[in-house]
Amino acid sequence: MQGWIARVFTSFIDIPDKIATSVYFSGCSVRCKNCHNKEIWEKESGTLTRDDELIEKIKNNRLSEYVVFLGGEPTDQLDFLVHMCKRVKNEVQKPVAIYTGREFEVLPDELLDNLFMVVCGPYREDLYQEGWPASSNQRVFKKRGNIWKN
Ligand code: SF4
Repeated sequence: MQGWIARVFTSFIDIPDKIATSVYFSGCSVRCKNCHNKEIWEKESGTLTRDDELIEKIKNNRLSEYVVFLGGEPTDQLDFLVHMCKRVKNEVQKPVAIYTGREFEVLPDELLDNLFMVVCGPYREDLYQEGWPASSNQRVFKKRGNIWKN
């Protein structure tokens, strides 16, 4: 299976105070005003990447404790996103989070089942805030046991 990926790197901010491998999907249909990642709005701005190649990159980042899928809009490539979340959870055995411009309530169970955290909602420049997340309308959901809480 293949998906469009813009970049993969080590992050110290996507899960605050933790080391994560952050995988940026290219392509975004949400199109928030004054988005900071406009350069990856088109899928073709990234590289069509095989799942095995991405898993190897994630495995090779031995520093990271977590994996984050963001973008771009990762749910625009929902089948690939779900597939990758399952593989990371089962093969790499690290907790997985996503950032999405969509709301939590529209995310399918087959995705949520493989995540421990979701940062959701579009970026709103008029609601910009210092700190995390970037705008105050965005919500953070964390799974405790099998229950999601925000
Ligand atoms: S969802 Fe993310 S990448 Fe897409 S426009 Fe909004 S802030 Fe930018």
